[in-house]
Amino acid sequence: MRGKIFAVKPFAVHDGNGIRTTVFFKGCPLRCRWCHNPEGLSFETQLSFFASKCISCGTCMDVCPQGAVLSAGKIDRTRCTTCGKCAEACPTAALVVQGYSVTEEMLFQRVTKEKAFYRDGGGVTFSGGECLLQSEFCAKVLRRLKHAGINTAVDTCGMVERKDLEAVVPFTDTFLYDLKAIDPKVHKRCTGVENEQILENLTYLNKEGANVEVVIPLVKGYNLGEWEKMLVFLKNLERIRTVKLLKYHGFYFSKYEALGWKIPATDISAPTEEEFAAIKNAFEREGFIVKI
Ligand code: SF4
Ligand code: SF4
Repeated sequence: MRGKIFAVKPFAVHDGNGIRTTVFFKGCPLRCRWCHNPEGLSFETQLSFFASKCISCGTCMDVCPQGAVLSAGKIDRTRCTTCGKCAEACPTAALVVQGYSVTEEMLFQRVTKEKAFYRDGGGVTFSGGECLLQSEFCAKVLRRLKHAGINTAVDTCGMVERKDLEAVVPFTDTFLYDLKAIDPKVHKRCTGVENEQILENLTYLNKEGANVEVVIPLVKGYNLGEWEKMLVFLKNLERIRTVKLLKYHGFYFSKYEALGWKIPATDISAPTEEEFAAIKNAFEREGFIVKI
């Protein structure tokens, strides 16, 4: 069996406890207006061109078998087959193929390379995109990691079928579960979809006694007004007691440009320090452990 990923990031410190290796899977059912990993949205392999790294050497034009590079870094995407020849030849890594297929064995061997660093609760995190769109593959690799004594985490948006969660529950030490809004209309405006399934799946994980950290991005103009509703909802999930609050920023726009895409929203801004502190305090007053 094979899975499709676009990156493996070693020594990650923001994707769960301790030092971790994070695997980013291709494909996501959501379209969050502030998505920081647009290269994970589509399941298709894509080519990114980072203009700031290009030195206009013209190598990509010379090697492209499709004649898809019209001038330094200018790609006719209708002709590009994402063969990756230009990315291999580019001397400055200005071109990157986003997406490749791996076997269970390949991925297991890759993420166990850093095993010596997985101290203090560190381990491997599956992220994306939405890794559970490939739940069967994830379950097989997570199972092997558990048997090898490696801590596992799954970072999910929750917009998956129940069977996809069930497949990984026995092999997942921690779920990092994104919660963006309670009001379905607000959720749809933020992500393109309503949230009934997401709330139901989170309720299911609570009932199962899974170890869940709820990850809440706080984005001004989008979901900041939802935090009190999220607090009320989470208070009723008696086994979930850890939340992680994220301040969002706009430092990822170049990733969209690199894919030849329009930036979905340029009005992304984080709450003020005072707003953020008030929200953190409110969760702590209700007995939540709040990570930043
Ligand atoms: S090979 Fe790389 S650096 Fe050279 S023109 Fe192409 S994208 Fe730019
Ligand atoms: S990925 Fe292949 S087809 Fe696409 S521009 Fe590069 S060399 Fe050409």
